Amino acid sequence: MSQPTHTTAELRALDHAHYLHPFTDHKDLGSRGTRIIERAEGVYLWDSEGQKILDGMAGLWCVNIGYGRRELADAAYKQMLELPYYNSFFQCANPPAVKLAAAIAEIAPAHMNHVFFTGSGSESNDTVLRMVRRYWDLKGKPTRKTVIGRINGYHGSTVAGASLGGMAPMHEQGDLPIPGIVHIPQPYWYGEGGDMSEEEFGLWAARQLEEKIQQVGEENVAAFIAEPIQGAGGVIVPPSTYWPEIKRIVDKYQILLVVDEVICGFGRTGEWFGSQYYDLKPDLMPIAKGMTSGYLPMGGVIVGDRVARTMIDEGGEFFHGYTYSGHPVAAAVGLENLRILREEKIVEYVKQEAAPYLQSKIAELADHRLVGEVRGVGLLGALELVKNKATRVRFVEKGTAGTLCRDICVRNGLVMRAVGDTMIMSPPLVIRPSEIDELVNTIRQCLDQTAEQLGV
Ligand code: PMP
Repeated sequence: MSQPTHTTAELRALDHAHYLHPFTDHKDLGSRGTRIIERAEGVYLWDSEGQKILDGMAGLWCVNIGYGRRELADAAYKQMLELPYYNSFFQCANPPAVKLAAAIAEIAPAHMNHVFFTGSGSESNDTVLRMVRRYWDLKGKPTRKTVIGRINGYHGSTVAGASLGGMAPMHEQGDLPIPGIVHIPQPYWYGEGGDMSEEEFGLWAARQLEEKIQQVGEENVAAFIAEPIQGAGGVIVPPSTYWPEIKRIVDKYQILLVVDEVICGFGRTGEWFGSQYYDLKPDLMPIAKGMTSGYLPMGGVIVGDRVARTMIDEGGEFFHGYTYSGHPVAAAVGLENLRILREEKIVEYVKQEAAPYLQSKIAELADHRLVGEVRGVGLLGALELVKNKATRVRFVEKGTAGTLCRDICVRNGLVMRAVGDTMIMSPPLVIRPSEIDELVNTIRQCLDQTAEQLGV
């Protein structure tokens, strides 16, 4: 039996009556009405009113290979008929999950050879918290429990994920962080660098980790967790001095390094992982999103040999896992997604063509009267909207310029996201040069309209 069709108005009414959305102010949503996205192809979305929209965010940073790839649908269909579900507990596994673990180990940094599967990025970071503590218990150092994260970092929305992250509004609503998680400042030079040069500030921000380790006591610190480039925090690209200094500090104190690759993983920086872009040697890499290009929910933690060997050689049972760890259909889609990324050389395309082109085009927006800074790496980009470019003075009420610009973008057929007054983008990796032209031309138009409405 096919589902009855509904008009947009009917869908909106049902939505309002029954659907609680993630990260949403429902009073506001009720008055504005939900935008119903109906279909998509390549880098474009169509809403239920027929408007075509260029998806400058790849969904939520996840549709790396673009929309409408039939091969992924076929892989899911085939696997559903063969084995729609079985667990990986009790000495069992299924072929797609085994093959996907091996395929991920092949593209991961050389010292990372194991994968623990989850259902999302948040779950991956719950696994991270459990795993780093388990590791130190096995090492006979059970006091090493504290994980150091960063203010304005994002690691998901579960209790552990939101605690590891450093989003103040999330902490306020949930009595978070939970005990044993502390935070250091972020390497956000444009917003917080003051009079320091970018390089000085990068060192300063990294050295906050050393200070925190000393404050908490070396014997109590389990791990440091960070995104290679903060995504949800506003595409914050760290100064060049930041990661080398962090590496020095984690090596010196021998704490575990957790690099959250949920956004940067699977090609976004022009390397398979952000860790390769910054030449990092993580012990754990939480992944999700681009792992299946968002076609089905799936996440995981890529585990380096230091932790994996300890868990395998010295561990008993790790009392942790999910019903959907290694879900066969999600894994089959993940495998097909990886095949496409590899055979179509999409990561190479990002590195050699798409990223240099996008970065050079958005750099041209720096001359706009609203834009205080343009930055980006790979297919990640950010524009800081300011009232005064010379003094970096912002608009009085934070977020108003960003929200206004975002709404104008949608009206002009473009999805960009606003983080406060920072406009961010993360298009599908397959975006063509002509589509990048369209993206950047539309942004300029929208900036003009935003400036006009703000009276700048
Ligand atoms: N880590 C990072 C770096 C993320 O960007 C996100 C999601 N935006 C998550 C974790 C959480 O992933 P999910 O929403 O799949 O739980």
